[in-house]
Amino acid sequence: MKLKDRIAIVTGAASGIGAASARLFAAEGARVALVDLDEGGLAAVADEIRAKGGEALEIVADVSRDDQAGAGVDRVLQAWGKVDVLMTAAGISLGGTVDKIDEAIWDRTFAINVKGTYLWVHHAIRPMIAAGSGAIVTVGSQLAQASLGKNAAYVASKGAIASFTKTIAVDHAAQGIRVNALMPGVIDTPMPARSLQRQADPEAARQVWRQRHPMGRIGQPEEVARAALFLASDDSSFVTGTLLFVDGGWTAH
Ligand code: NAP
Repeated sequence: MKLKDRIAIVTGAASGIGAASARLFAAEGARVALVDLDEGGLAAVADEIRAKGGEALEIVADVSRDDQAGAGVDRVLQAWGKVDVLMTAAGISLGGTVDKIDEAIWDRTFAINVKGTYLWVHHAIRPMIAAGSGAIVTVGSQLAQASLGKNAAYVASKGAIASFTKTIAVDHAAQGIRVNALMPGVIDTPMPARSLQRQADPEAARQVWRQRHPMGRIGQPEEVARAALFLASDDSSFVTGTLLFVDGGWTAH
């Protein structure tokens, strides 16, 4: 087991990439704190983990709230005494070109995607610094490097996460903490499904997505989860400050 006796926190754990990663971390021996706004989704993932003999802690929280991030990390420390792994998968994608998106869309996107990443890292990295070890996995997007357009706030937020990941990796490497970002391609979760609903011809848009990946398909959340496990575990012991593209070749051309 790659995460035996490790304590992991996963935000956005009620759905998609976060849920798949939380399930895999638990299967690999971690006790997992599941963070999300979606209480029902969290309970379903936690029940699945427990049914397989794992341990899960449900933390209903808005990742963009400092008080809730601080209280969430405190709950994990009270329950389990340490934090070994943090994965920040909570995020939103609202679409729109810069002339159309209003200030509220920009602020909400940055509050959840960027500030939500900062806040959970800010609180969870302190016990890691005290322990002299830890692995942090943030979640950017392949769009930060090669955008299809029409999602200005989201793409900017994912570029910010990539830069944030690299600079904090430098700051905390000597303290035994590794920080890396996953940069997924289009992955089959509710997020792109909602984006498709905004398209005039959803099936045509889905076909463009498939073709845009040289592998000719979109990815599955479990394929990203396996990359998350690599970055969260000792398998990546000399890897920090890396952007790991799990994108079927999207950014290779
Ligand atoms: P998803 O299925 O929508 O999961 C995201 C989860 O985050 C949802 O459970 C969502 O809850 C939760 N969330 C949203 N706002 C929150 C908040 N303020 N506080 C706490 N939880 C909140 O999406 P996904 O595809 O798995 O995305 C996971 C991450 O991967 C995101 O950062 C996304 O940008 C990134 N990513 C996804 C893709 C893709 O194609 N799927 C590609 C590249 C990167 P609600 O459902 O209640 O909003």
